[in-house]
Amino acid sequence: MSHRLRSSAWTRALGIFALSCAPLFAVCGLAKAASPLETTKLVYAPGKIVPIPASVPHEEGDMVDKRIVPDLRWIAQHYPIYVTDGYSGPLPNGEHVGCNRCHVKGSDHYNGLAVDVVPVGGSAKCDATWALITRLAKWAEPVQNKPRAPFRWVGYDGDAGHGCGNHLHLSWNHAPAPEYTLAEWVEVFPVNFTGVKEGTRGKKAPAPKAPPGPSGGVSQSTTGGLSPNGSGD
Ligand SMILES: [Zn+2]
Repeated sequence: MSHRLRSSAWTRALGIFALSCAPLFAVCGLAKAASPLETTKLVYAPGKIVPIPASVPHEEGDMVDKRIVPDLRWIAQHYPIYVTDGYSGPLPNGEHVGCNRCHVKGSDHYNGLAVDVVPVGGSAKCDATWALITRLAKWAEPVQNKPRAPFRWVGYDGDAGHGCGNHLHLSWNHAPAPEYTLAEWVEVFPVNFTGVKEGTRGKKAPAPKAPPGPSGGVSQSTTGGLSPNGSGD
């Protein structure tokens, strides 16, 4: 009897606790959503396959859909990436860009919305030169097969043909599109063309040596659009 009384009092106390904390959680949620790294947007502006700019170290001739260039610039400012492949396919002038049919069927490389990266000056062994690429991979994919938006698929440790000492694959969420066509929309994290994340203009950018770490495994997707099936390699 006394036990039952105690537990019901405890249940009431928990209820009161939950109610009193609800506004606090709401504030926490807002603060998290306002973080530039946690927000993404869909870009409907027309895409175009363009050369990767010099500010993003890359293999000569590599190209991507221009709508992910600002994100690539931001990544290159914070992580020592060297892009080894971007768009893979024909250009309107008939020229071929990127490696030839080296990606899986349906790969985002065929839409210019994926890059393969290695460390600048890195080795072909998983050594210290890969540490920041591993950090980038963990930021983009805090939990295996649950990439952080706007990434659609992240290939690294745990994915065949990828990983430390091999390469990191990053692809962006996008509207379904046939191979060698431009997607109607692309999801990006919002940075402008100076590499400053929108809403942070005038503030000091994060120090390059302290790139953002995993957020604790809670990812916020604004679309829920594309299913993560298919590697998009
Ligand atoms: Zn790839």
